[in-house]
Amino acid sequence: MFLTGTMKINDQGHLEIGGIDTLELVKDFGTPLWVIDEEGLRRNCRMLKEAFARWGDSVVAYASKSLCNMAICTIVAQEGLSLDVVSGGELFTALLAGFPAEKILFHGNNKDPEEIRMALQAGVGRIIVDNFHELELLNSIAEEYGHDVDIMLRITPGVEAHTHEYIQTGQIDSKFGFTLTDGQAMEGVKAAVNSPKLNLTGLHYHIGSQIFDMEPFRHTTALMMKFIAQIKEETGQEIYELDVGGGFGIFYTQGDRPGNPEDWAEAVMTTVQEKARYYGLTVPLVIIEPGRAISGPAGITLYTIGSFKEVTGIRKYIAVDGGMTDNIRTALYGAQYSALLANKADQQPVETVSIAGKCCESGDMLIWDIRLPQVESGDILAVFATGAYNYTMSSNYNRLPRPAMVLVNQGCADLILKRETYADLLRNDLLPDRLKNR
Ligand SMILES: *Cc1c(COP(=O)(O)O)cnc(C)c1O
Repeated sequence: MFLTGTMKINDQGHLEIGGIDTLELVKDFGTPLWVIDEEGLRRNCRMLKEAFARWGDSVVAYASKSLCNMAICTIVAQEGLSLDVVSGGELFTALLAGFPAEKILFHGNNKDPEEIRMALQAGVGRIIVDNFHELELLNSIAEEYGHDVDIMLRITPGVEAHTHEYIQTGQIDSKFGFTLTDGQAMEGVKAAVNSPKLNLTGLHYHIGSQIFDMEPFRHTTALMMKFIAQIKEETGQEIYELDVGGGFGIFYTQGDRPGNPEDWAEAVMTTVQEKARYYGLTVPLVIIEPGRAISGPAGITLYTIGSFKEVTGIRKYIAVDGGMTDNIRTALYGAQYSALLANKADQQPVETVSIAGKCCESGDMLIWDIRLPQVESGDILAVFATGAYNYTMSSNYNRLPRPAMVLVNQGCADLILKRETYADLLRNDLLPDRLKNR
């Protein structure tokens, strides 16, 4: 079901979230509007943390790329989670939000020297090294700083999770990580062990996103434990941490069958414990990196419906005041979403329509073929599970200003991201004098 967290349909037949009627939110903040359910977000953090903690030592690192700003980083820190960042910009945001640096893990397949310096300066907890180039670069920058750096290596295990090809990452032909199957991973481990300023604490894998089947996690975790045993045998190096990435799937539409966090915890933790016993290894600390599973279901987007176009006998298009600029996922990889009319949330569906954005691209669609009550101009469309990878992938295509984001909880609504203005769009534009004086 797409009503999660504190969402419900109130007595007036309107969608409510965080104890507030969404039509009130629209009146106060306008559309398009990203709305984040604070209680829902916190619950998602706790559910994952508790599910893994039941089995043993574990750390939940929220993948900030799914939804990152000052308020979200602050909430995640308050919930006691760690944080994944993949760029200087995400790191900068987290540090400014007061996120404890030692609980930050820094990922990325092409960290530049400036980003690495920033991470070392801040004292981030772990740097997840992706390739040989980075091993050398990091070691030489660590020499400048004069202290050792705790690192993990990203391993590409050669496992294909059943997900869209652009969001699956564990397969061998991937831009990420040291390949396990051709000996590159062992070479990487040896290079890391021989890097004087680098201290190899753990291994990392991430096999993809929106995964429902827990078997790939079981399988990959077993492969990694075997590799950890081989490392100990060949080099004497012990590995104390295993980071199994993120990718836990959520409900977007009918047909999505997300598991319980308990299923994920069981798959990973029992495999780690069994294999540690089997190979005679210390049970490593397990780190998970969910992004979507925490932020996705906690967010909705509210749009105002404007124009219509009926293609006789084929399709009825309904256009909203946003689109691929605030949610590119449908256009990018055919993502599917559920939605309802927030002002007619108690009415039965009577027609099938397709929801288009307002950009100059035929592919600018949000939802193909959705059943809704009679749609009229001025209705408010609420799209669910837009907390993840909407804002963070947003753009100013067609010079559309980005929407505002509000955080709702127990009847309070606070702006956590201002709506962009036309002036914001021009903030970095420069007009050289020689163009003015022609
Ligand atoms: C994207 C990513 C995640 C989070 O993925 P979700 O599908 O949002 O859970 C975690 N770790 C790494 C390395 C990633 O690239």
